Amino acid sequence: MQIRNDLMNLFFPNRCPGCNKILTASEDLCEACSEHILLTHDSYCQRCGKEACSCKRTSFAYDRAVICCRYADEAVSAIVRMKTSENTNMAHFAARILAERIRLSLNFGTFDCVMPVPMHPSRQRERGYNQAALIGKEIARLLSLPYREDVLYKERSVISQHSLGAKDRKKNVSGFGIRDIRLDGLRILLCDDVLTTGATLDRCAALLKQNGAAAVVAAAAASTPPKDYRKSEETAPLPPEGGTP
Ligand SMILES: [Zn+2]
Ligand SMILES: [Zn+2]
Repeated sequence: MQIRNDLMNLFFPNRCPGCNKILTASEDLCEACSEHILLTHDSYCQRCGKEACSCKRTSFAYDRAVICCRYADEAVSAIVRMKTSENTNMAHFAARILAERIRLSLNFGTFDCVMPVPMHPSRQRERGYNQAALIGKEIARLLSLPYREDVLYKERSVISQHSLGAKDRKKNVSGFGIRDIRLDGLRILLCDDVLTTGATLDRCAALLKQNGAAAVVAAAAASTPPKDYRKSEETAPLPPEGGTP
């Protein structure tokens, strides 16, 4: 098996999804990339999952959030590569960090199961897989938890509301739906690739709670940075302009 892996790595080298550098067969991300994009567990709000906390402005149906990286710089290429199945190392990297944070932090408690934010089947066929599922399955494996895709689903984004009854209309909001499965008292870990406003995770968490879930924790590979993040990186202080008024 080891020889086979070594040979595979010779012909199809394992590359860093952030910078494309060649890695050893067991690495997910190079050290420079992971150091640069990793968010420390206390650098984001563990309620909303944002570096610039938005809890005062918005309330979320999920109870807590656990995040791996800042969605900027190398994390963007790593996540794009994961989405296009060119390189899925990022899913393994994120799952490992997220599982570790969940295991070590007392904030999250225990879980009954792991679920991904669903993707529409036709889109999944195009792509080959759902990137949120890739992360979710790996977290479930690492934490020895059941993994479930039978509860939430994604409708076609252009489903006509006219064709639905009042109850289903409500369910169809934003294209996410939930099957008639009771989740009474369950504590659920809900996974996605990128948390932007938190709206997607919020909608899915609200559906889970509608069916009785006691708690939903959102786990995302990355969270978008505060608005001024790029600006502050780009606009490094200018050198003093000698003499000009
Ligand atoms: Zn790298
Ligand atoms: Zn917050």
